[in-house]
Amino acid sequence: MLEKVENLKEALWWQLDKNDKILCTLCPRFCHIGKGQAGFCFIRKNIDGKLYSLGYGRPTGFAIDPVEKKPLNHFLPKTGILSFGTAGCNLGCRFCQNWHMSKATLDNKKSLKVTAEQVVMLAKQHGCPSIAITYNDPTIIGEFVIDIAKIAKEENIHVVLVTAGYITPTARKEIYKNVSAANVDLKGFTDEFYRKQTFSKLEPILDTLKWLKHETNVWFELTNLKIPNENDSLEETKEMCDWILNNLGDEVPLHFTAFHPDFKMTDKKRTPTETLTTAREIAMKMGIKYCYIGNVHDLSGQTTYCPSCKTAIIVRDWHSVLTYNMEKNKCRNCGHEIAGIFSP
Ligand code: SF4
Repeated sequence: MLEKVENLKEALWWQLDKNDKILCTLCPRFCHIGKGQAGFCFIRKNIDGKLYSLGYGRPTGFAIDPVEKKPLNHFLPKTGILSFGTAGCNLGCRFCQNWHMSKATLDNKKSLKVTAEQVVMLAKQHGCPSIAITYNDPTIIGEFVIDIAKIAKEENIHVVLVTAGYITPTARKEIYKNVSAANVDLKGFTDEFYRKQTFSKLEPILDTLKWLKHETNVWFELTNLKIPNENDSLEETKEMCDWILNNLGDEVPLHFTAFHPDFKMTDKKRTPTETLTTAREIAMKMGIKYCYIGNVHDLSGQTTYCPSCKTAIIVRDWHSVLTYNMEKNKCRNCGHEIAGIFSP
């Protein structure tokens, strides 16, 4: 049973379309949504000619994760981050590693009901310096992100988005206004992969990345989930790194992470660790300063080395920090400045 319409949040980013339909302009899928129907993401619905955000204020639950799990290695290391997601997603990844949430429609019984103020207060009560909207894609609850980030800023709490970056230029400008950091999934580097395996397109994502780098102060890191025989060729890795270096520079951290068989891609094996270590070697040889591997145990592949004196400044194992040799944002050994946000 749905909530009464007067209790729902009217969506931003839509316009009336032909035949009583609504055109949603939040993400580049540009859904045409008929009366009584929801868009591809399940949680933006046309009710009597208005678009509503059904996911607003409806997390599926909360957790306090290590910030390294997002993954963010250059953002407030060793801190806990209050994390939540909602039902739905605007991508259709066949390999989704969180599909129980992303492919769910809103369940009024199981979803919580919270205000933006309550989310921020929860982070405060638990001593978390930041809040992550994660697990599914925060883009689809952009209105809630805006409200949380506005209040969080007043309380000196950071907001982090873990996203695929599939968003329109108009919406991203408003949604990222008070956001401090993001981890953006760069899921592959061919349009074919994006089209067939995620039901989206590569170009708008590259556009979002360039925008984040050149037109915002948002700290961001990239994640590339390597799937055997899908997006793990050496050529594709080299092309991706080349694009990153030419368009985002050499200081955006890049995480190569291991896939496990899930959702509609259960015919593939887990990513071998060697695939990740080879990709990391290529990236670093090409000039990317901070490259990591994830979802496997590999101390060296998860350590931050000072690009100047090569000291191991942050040694990690999985999501735990074992050694910390930083003084504010500098290498404790040689004083070299490390890109990122290292103090609240
Ligand atoms: S946000 Fe949802 S409803 Fe809007 S265009 Fe994207 S998938 Fe469609």
